[in-house]
Amino acid sequence: MKAIRVSQLGGPEVLQYVDVDTPKPGAGEALVRIEAIGVNFIDVYHRTGLYKLPLPFMPGSEAAGVVEAIGDGVDSLKRGDRVAYAMVRGAYAEYAIVPAHMLVHLPDSIDSKTAAAAMLQGMTAHYLATSVHPIAAGETVLIQAAAGGVGALLVQIAKMLGARVLGTASTKHLHIAAEAGCDVVIDYTKDDFEAVVMAETDGKGCNAVYDSVGKTTFDKSLNCCGLRATLGLFGQSSGVVPPFDPSRLAKNGVFLTRPSLGHYIHTREELLDRARELFEWIGSGRLKLRIDREVRLTDAADAHRALEARETTGKVLLIPDN
Ligand code: NDP
Repeated sequence: MKAIRVSQLGGPEVLQYVDVDTPKPGAGEALVRIEAIGVNFIDVYHRTGLYKLPLPFMPGSEAAGVVEAIGDGVDSLKRGDRVAYAMVRGAYAEYAIVPAHMLVHLPDSIDSKTAAAAMLQGMTAHYLATSVHPIAAGETVLIQAAAGGVGALLVQIAKMLGARVLGTASTKHLHIAAEAGCDVVIDYTKDDFEAVVMAETDGKGCNAVYDSVGKTTFDKSLNCCGLRATLGLFGQSSGVVPPFDPSRLAKNGVFLTRPSLGHYIHTREELLDRARELFEWIGSGRLKLRIDREVRLTDAADAHRALEARETTGKVLLIPDN
């Protein structure tokens, strides 16, 4: 089969399109013929070495396709089942071995491209809005990078839950944050978002701040937290947040957390519940995905370049040739 392999850390050029043996599923595993692969920032962090993996490795954390074969002891799946998964590495390939307990069956209303676009960013937005800080109607939340993949989904879910949503985006993405449903859109490349948030909340700050931008926004995100607010730092698109003094949390008794999707799909039940609700929202049209572009698997490097250049708004999919 064809796959992308990383043999040395570096820029997008280290994503090599190579021939490898098609793997066989072991006990508790399934072989999935991949139809669509979701590209995520974590794939960039693996490629650059920000998140360490032993070399060589096959990148990619999310895909959808069809079960081709199952290993011993798998009774939840059969050949031909349509499935999707997230948080299992090795998705940049024509076939992948996935533990059966990580696979979710797809309802008829969800095709493979939609599923590959929804699993990781969608379940992330879901756990942020329903578990990291369960948003209550009438609350005010600040969502950084509100036009990004997770951001635009989180805005929509926060609105569904009845929040007032303040969202930031860079100049060329402002319209996307507005389309997602932000009540107030702030251009954080031009305006002081902290000042706008304080003005919009009568100086009280927000009930929750969701920050995936990291280095360039974290300080002011903390200042935007109101009394006993939650600051969910869930990414670092602009770079890693430098060490800071935890006594700064004392001002409003802020709860700071650095969650990962893995913490919130920890059990099979939790994974299935999140995926089910996500697919229901998508199937009914309440939650709209934005697929930015589809790129051939062989051109995975181009997909990474676009992501890192901040060109994309929504999901980038890789499509294998098989
Ligand atoms: P996207 O690329 O879709 O969106 C990221 C957005 O961040 C961009 O659209 C851009 O919007 C903004 N941004 C601000 N500064 C920068 C910068 N210096 N470089 C690039 N983008 C920048 O990514 P995702 O929505 O998939 O992921 C966002 C973050 O969330 C990533 O850090 C990712 O690792 C993390 N994440 C964390 C998860 C978790 O469970 N902890 C799960 C999924 C993602 P604009 O130009 O409008 O500012």
